[in-house]
Amino acid sequence: MLPKIAYVGTGGTIASIGKGPFDLLDYNATDERIEAKAFIERTGLQGTIADIVAVNFRQIDSTAITLSDWADLADLCKELARDPDLNGIVIGHGTASLEETAWLLSLVLDLEVPVVVTGSMRPLTGISSDTQANLAAAIRVAAMPRGEIAGVSVVLNDEVHSPRAVTKSHTLRLNAFQSPWFGPLGFVDGPNVNLVRRHRSVSERCFTTNLLRRLPRVDIAYSYVGADGVAIRAFVEAGAKGIVSAGFGPGNGTPAEVNALVDAVSSGVIVVQSTRMGAGVAVDSAYHKSIGIIAGNDLNAQKARILLALCLARGDGHQQIADIFYSA
Ligand code: ASP
Repeated sequence: MLPKIAYVGTGGTIASIGKGPFDLLDYNATDERIEAKAFIERTGLQGTIADIVAVNFRQIDSTAITLSDWADLADLCKELARDPDLNGIVIGHGTASLEETAWLLSLVLDLEVPVVVTGSMRPLTGISSDTQANLAAAIRVAAMPRGEIAGVSVVLNDEVHSPRAVTKSHTLRLNAFQSPWFGPLGFVDGPNVNLVRRHRSVSERCFTTNLLRRLPRVDIAYSYVGADGVAIRAFVEAGAKGIVSAGFGPGNGTPAEVNALVDAVSSGVIVVQSTRMGAGVAVDSAYHKSIGIIAGNDLNAQKARILLALCLARGDGHQQIADIFYSA
């Protein structure tokens, strides 16, 4: 009997219809993305390696995903997982914000079935599109026997990645999704899924989905030579409850940014220090500790932002938040 896999379509390049096979760059111009049901029919995968239950959700570019879409998506996954015959869930997603959605889901879902987030770098209609191969690989992972894979994974280009480590590292290449310095969790070779390591996960899945309906404003301040802290002060002015600093290499901003962050901390804003490197831990310096800045561990700024927003929504205080970032 074929495994039963739910496919949730959110839009993105994987569902995009371009102007023709060579429309590989500006296909968003058509603004046409098909629904999950039509998508699954078009891939020709129905009834081959899985019995696919296509679930229409959104047909948007992933840059347009909102916090309330996240809340709806998490609730939908929980509802789908109530089906005792379901083996797994695959989510088709735009690659632009895929790593954020996958990380978010990994923090709030604790389901019996695996959730696999996939996408494609070339539109459905593009020449040599990676759509079908990525969908097939994602299905293979989602169909793994219970206990062999758990939680949320990201599958593209025949690689399985942890939502914590994975990032989109190129605008166009088919191997854009990488886990820098960490590597994939495993590989999909034809029908075989070969997991070489486990999720480096933790106390991550500790947030309830209802928090997603009340995530506070958390902004990211990107460091660059001469950054004067105006952006940080504007975020505080705009009501940010948290700020993530995407700082220079070891994990710090310019002196003017640090002054603005100190002012933010003293007005009650929680500040987390990440880096703009895309890999490696932010140094938890004695100076940052003394001024109340929390080190963001190995999370890139966009993922630190999500974790911080969830902590704040739950009402965690400074020390609890620091503990979660250090232990996560
Ligand atoms: N524009 C696309 C998106 O929805 C990019 C992609 O999916 O590759 O994120």
